[in-house]
Amino acid sequence: MAGFLEACQHCCYYCLRGLYWVPVGFVVLILTWGYYVYVYTLHLSGEFVKPIPVSVLFLFIGHILLFLHVSSYARTILTKHKPVPSEFMPTDEQLDQMDTMEDSQPFIAQLASSLPLNQVTRSGSVRYCAHCELIKPDRTHHCSTCGTCILKMDHHCPWVNNCVGFSNYKYFYLFLFYTVVLSLWFCLSSLYDIVHLWRKDLKEGLASKFNVTFCFVILGVFGLSTSCLLFFHTYLIFTNKTTIESMDAPRTHRGPVKDLYYLGVRRNLRAIFGSNPFLALLPVNTSEGNGASFPIKNHHHIAEYRSQRTGRTDTNNMENGYTVVLTSNRDSGSESEVEIFAVDDRRTETVPLASSPQ
Ligand SMILES: [Zn+2]
Ligand SMILES: [Zn+2]
Repeated sequence: MAGFLEACQHCCYYCLRGLYWVPVGFVVLILTWGYYVYVYTLHLSGEFVKPIPVSVLFLFIGHILLFLHVSSYARTILTKHKPVPSEFMPTDEQLDQMDTMEDSQPFIAQLASSLPLNQVTRSGSVRYCAHCELIKPDRTHHCSTCGTCILKMDHHCPWVNNCVGFSNYKYFYLFLFYTVVLSLWFCLSSLYDIVHLWRKDLKEGLASKFNVTFCFVILGVFGLSTSCLLFFHTYLIFTNKTTIESMDAPRTHRGPVKDLYYLGVRRNLRAIFGSNPFLALLPVNTSEGNGASFPIKNHHHIAEYRSQRTGRTDTNNMENGYTVVLTSNRDSGSESEVEIFAVDDRRTETVPLASSPQ
């Protein structure tokens, strides 16, 4: 009986896994149908006679857009998410130690003190994933569908049956972009044929008429609804936010900070598309960073704030979102130490100037 129940559980698990692929199958079906209608019915069947050079040009442009669309979609689906770096994972001994503690939070905070973290939980403690047994890097969230922590998680997308996060966000955005462009291309380049078609005798080529018109309407609606999503994700890229952060601002020790990762439009765009404009719209990996630590907006202001509050001499800032404050020696007036602060004004390290990090 136990064996039978176990077999049922396994069966249900695989059925559920199979169901997750239904939306992907739907997208592939629409694409295949659109391809058939565009390439065969509109250009090769001979029912719609266009000058050959026009047909060749239309098919050439259509195939380039289709290639970019399909490869972006495939890479969004198939990209394996980069794992959380090992320094965020407690060792087996540390995990055993935590098991014996009634409140492991102070111990976790101690482990996290050397990590580049700015975000905290609502209660102000270190963000820790009990499922994956790791300290969550900034912008990382646990996905219950994927059953793992995803770096810079945006959302879990059923249309790609994968999480959208640091590793595949650019591909996802390009998938949306080329869905809209491809739908627009299909509708605009076949509009003349459709109008011409319905002017003819109704009985003539009735099946093709409905096939082409129905495909036109479906792809039009598909493109229009995707353009809303594309618009939203364009806003997110310009403001350097994820979908999760747009709904719930990341929290530091000072409370929620809406635009914590805003670095200016150019740097925000570079974070996703990289610095080479020729590769920006190609589904190749050009996103900047390691996915586990991110530059933040106001480290410079914090340096100024520290400097005003403490009366200390000079400020400097580092690209990784930490603030460095040079400390005067009270007696000689010379700069002797470098203090490093996280965004929340928490001092993380004090080092002699000679060995200060560059
Ligand atoms: Zn997790
Ligand atoms: Zn997921």
